[in-house]
Amino acid sequence: MRRAPILALLMTCSLAASAAVPADCWALRKHGHAAEALSCFDGLTQSADAYNRAEGFWGLEEWEQAGAQFELALKQTKSPASWRVRYGMLLHERFNNTDAAKLYEEALQMDPSNAEAYVGLAILSADGFDDKAEDYLKKAIELDPKLAEAHEWMADLALANDDTDLAVAEADKAIALENDALDAMAIHAAVELIADRPPDAWFAKIQAINPGYGQAYANVARQLELHYRYEDAVTYYRKAIEVEPRLWSAHSALGIDLMRLGKEDEPFHELELSYNNDYRDTATVNSLKLLDSYKNFETFKDKTTVLKLNKTEATQLLPYMQAELHTILATYEKKYHMTLTGPVQVEVYPDHDDFAVRTTGMPGLGALGVTFGQVIAMDSPSARKPGDFNWGSTLWHEMSHVFILTATNHRVPRWFTEGLAVHEEGQRSPEWRTRATPDVLIAIRDKKLLPVSSLDRGFVYPEYPTQVNVSYFQGGSICDYIQEKWGEDKLLDMVHSYARLQTTAQAIQQSLGISAEQFDRQYLAWINQKYGAEAAHFDEWKDKLKTLVAAAEQQQYDTVLQQGPAVIAMYPEYVDDANAYELVAAADRARGDVKAEAAILTAYEHEGGQMPDDLKRLATLQEAAGQPAEAVATLERLNYIYPVKDEDLHRRLGDLLYAQKQYEGAIREYSVLAASNPVDKAGAQFDLAQAYFAAGQMDKAEDSVLGALETAPGYRPAQKLLLELQKTPVKSN
Ligand SMILES: [Zn+2]
Repeated sequence: MRRAPILALLMTCSLAASAAVPADCWALRKHGHAAEALSCFDGLTQSADAYNRAEGFWGLEEWEQAGAQFELALKQTKSPASWRVRYGMLLHERFNNTDAAKLYEEALQMDPSNAEAYVGLAILSADGFDDKAEDYLKKAIELDPKLAEAHEWMADLALANDDTDLAVAEADKAIALENDALDAMAIHAAVELIADRPPDAWFAKIQAINPGYGQAYANVARQLELHYRYEDAVTYYRKAIEVEPRLWSAHSALGIDLMRLGKEDEPFHELELSYNNDYRDTATVNSLKLLDSYKNFETFKDKTTVLKLNKTEATQLLPYMQAELHTILATYEKKYHMTLTGPVQVEVYPDHDDFAVRTTGMPGLGALGVTFGQVIAMDSPSARKPGDFNWGSTLWHEMSHVFILTATNHRVPRWFTEGLAVHEEGQRSPEWRTRATPDVLIAIRDKKLLPVSSLDRGFVYPEYPTQVNVSYFQGGSICDYIQEKWGEDKLLDMVHSYARLQTTAQAIQQSLGISAEQFDRQYLAWINQKYGAEAAHFDEWKDKLKTLVAAAEQQQYDTVLQQGPAVIAMYPEYVDDANAYELVAAADRARGDVKAEAAILTAYEHEGGQMPDDLKRLATLQEAAGQPAEAVATLERLNYIYPVKDEDLHRRLGDLLYAQKQYEGAIREYSVLAASNPVDKAGAQFDLAQAYFAAGQMDKAEDSVLGALETAPGYRPAQKLLLELQKTPVKSN
């Protein structure tokens, strides 16, 4: 949002430029008198006063000159705090938030009652989606209740938090204070659009004051974006540019939004245009880099899916991801009673920074994946530490968003679509459910869960650092609870309520027959029954785990084996760093008790533990115990965790499947192995040939065996298989 000028006193055009003060020039610009504003600013640059010159150059968009003049002005002994605030705002506009913050702080040291400095700090906080913006604005309003700009920003923040009533109230306050509060009018327009009502009256008011004020449309677009309405956001960014072609920030935002919708050429054009016109914020620069990196990707299309994979790992991801996507599509089509209109596009980034660019400017999103309409961007397993990430659960999560956003035409509160997506992960596999992490237990213990009607706040502008995670868990567990008590269909009913623009309170009343307050009480009772004891004993558990870790470090295996089970029983869901399962398993291993080791690792696996080494060890134990089917199931879990750069995994799984005559699976595993350029390439090609042969796919068997012989011409088993193939009378596919 562009800030409003300090004063909004409209000057007449006859005003002599030389007599103008900065506020007059900004007011001319705000009211659409572009040419007069320019000559006014030009006049200021001739001023004897450095501060006036700074404002003049700023108005002429001569940023460096403006900065230099501000520096000069601040050197004067009597330079007031307000000049520092203005300089801070210039620096913020030019992407230098660090120095802007310093200037605001300096201003507040000189003048603790400077309301505008607090507004400046609030803008920086809102930029970074931290929790302080609201406090800063409250402070600004307390110091100067007549500062319209502070009310405008408060309205903006409230709407981003989906608090429409507050947004409207604050926007009205701003308009009551200044009848040309354009940004407040834009908030009203956004409120109307989000509620699917016509915004025209508000845009008409804005145009009457300044027909060339593109920022109003850009502000609206930004709010639409925050409400997942990317297509609509594109429409309004386009309008912003139409009325103000030189609004480079809107060109950049349009480019980024179009990228989210899976476009490439137009985004490049828009972003490059912004860049070439010196609009070079981090989002613009990084998005251009990301577009450039697309040359390293390969695209795989079928009728319903488009997969964009990095060339270095495409062959290792494609078979699993494509198959999973089809399973997901079939499952959700049935469950949500709908089909998607076009193919869904999934982009998988091995470089987390590239993925992070995709989520720039989006709050509370994108830890692992993010959905924009029918485009999903996500981390590749290779972007993260093995064991940290499950691409399968991420894909089920993001795909749920694709369906729910489509079903509601993007009219769904954040908490519900996130909650449902988290719920779906657990539906796919209990091992993939979102577990109650220590943060969640602490929030339950300290009664920090939010009422369902205001749960959205926990996602956008969290009040404490872990609140976003806690809110994901809470949203998910609310959906679990609804399913458990009222049935899965009620979740779909709620989806339909949101599609009809009902509020959460209305959706709950209509679908579940109780008020939101009643729901909160029942849900809290349920969650307390589930986690109350764990939460209450959290500190005790932590102490006991510490003791256990110390004992393990001292190799006191008896102590570990004696105390471990009790630690696990206190908080069985804990499978993260230094969990008791792994400590007990290591003690069992040291004691040579393979049966107990397999049992504890199985428990770990079923709780969702996913460290590759542990699961491989379990598979080894299962194989040794004559349980090949269990070993296969364990290794297949690893394909969802870290299928890349792991020859050993694919070879072992291929061998196990082959031995169990599951040739399709063996072919899949050996194909991935052979395509990943393994150390023993000929061996992998030969194994693949054998699997094809066993499956009766003679042509492919022959191709593979020839491949093996090309790699290693003297490879006897391959020569033998080739002879055998040539003797086989009938070939088939
Ligand atoms: Zn999500």
